[in-house]
Amino acid sequence: MKNNSVAKVTQNCLIDLHLHLDGSISIPSARELAAISKVTLPEDDNELKKLLAVAEDCTSLVDYLKTFDLPQTLLQNEEAIERCVYNLCTEMSKQGYIYAEIRFAPQFSMNEGLTQEQIVKAAIKGLDKSGFNAQLILCAMRRFDFSKMEIIDNSDLNNETLRLAKKYLGKGVCAIDIAGPEAQCPVNHYKELFAKAKELGVPYTIHAGEALGPESVNLAIEYGAQRIGHGVRSIESEKTMAILIEKRVPLELCPLSNINTGVYPSIKDEPIKSYLDRGIVVTINADNSMVSSTTVRRELQTIVDVFGLTDEQIKQIFINSANAAFLSEASKKQLVDLINAEYEA
Ligand SMILES: [Zn+2]
Repeated sequence: MKNNSVAKVTQNCLIDLHLHLDGSISIPSARELAAISKVTLPEDDNELKKLLAVAEDCTSLVDYLKTFDLPQTLLQNEEAIERCVYNLCTEMSKQGYIYAEIRFAPQFSMNEGLTQEQIVKAAIKGLDKSGFNAQLILCAMRRFDFSKMEIIDNSDLNNETLRLAKKYLGKGVCAIDIAGPEAQCPVNHYKELFAKAKELGVPYTIHAGEALGPESVNLAIEYGAQRIGHGVRSIESEKTMAILIEKRVPLELCPLSNINTGVYPSIKDEPIKSYLDRGIVVTINADNSMVSSTTVRRELQTIVDVFGLTDEQIKQIFINSANAAFLSEASKKQLVDLINAEYEA
């Protein structure tokens, strides 16, 4: 390995810690799920892609969020949920991933009468059948009624998500998360949920510091989040940067997603290089691989092209991801060994 050369991201040791199931349904997978769920799709793949992915130059959160409508329709029965997880795992295995944490919100698959437990069990079945080294993160949700401009109280649904995370912890599930509109539903609204998670010994990551600034990251860390979903805006506060450095809380950065949702105008505006230079524990993830037409390899290649990162820095990102995973120390070490072997080859 030449330490100071600009990296080539060809390694087969990809890890994704921040990947939403509903935003990562490939075209062939969508067609299978539609057949299972008896949903009619456009016959032309380009037309179908327009429903599942944003245009390359998308910078609109509204357009971005529209791409989740069809996936939600496709994920309303157990067979489809199981197949969706299975397909994503199989695809990732072929793409050179060695580990993934796939997240989804069970409460979004209840439209046709499934319970959250049936949904979680179906997802675990898909995971187990695939044989791929992956775990599930169950997303609790921030929900906001934009017509009334008020936060929806879905604490019962979120508490049930947490109960299931505890029940299936280590059996396919590794953690919980909270997703949804951060700007309208700040972290403090969910203080109780995470206090309960802590009490139950369920690990958690919190989406924070994406739509809102560093104060959201501070609160997530104060509530005990082991990782921060995005956290990309932490750089706006020296205090937050100091906390991240001191506590070594990993950031789950998703560079292309931040462009597509309009957090930053372009990759060069993202503070990724500053985080690396200052020793923040950075991981690089896809967020929604279908929506943003991306993979961890593409994310890494993009930041290499823009910032001229070295092999050493890319390897460090892989190692960070391995160590930040919701895994036992022994399983993390296995991933680190695979990364070291890939770089020695
Ligand atoms: Zn996310």
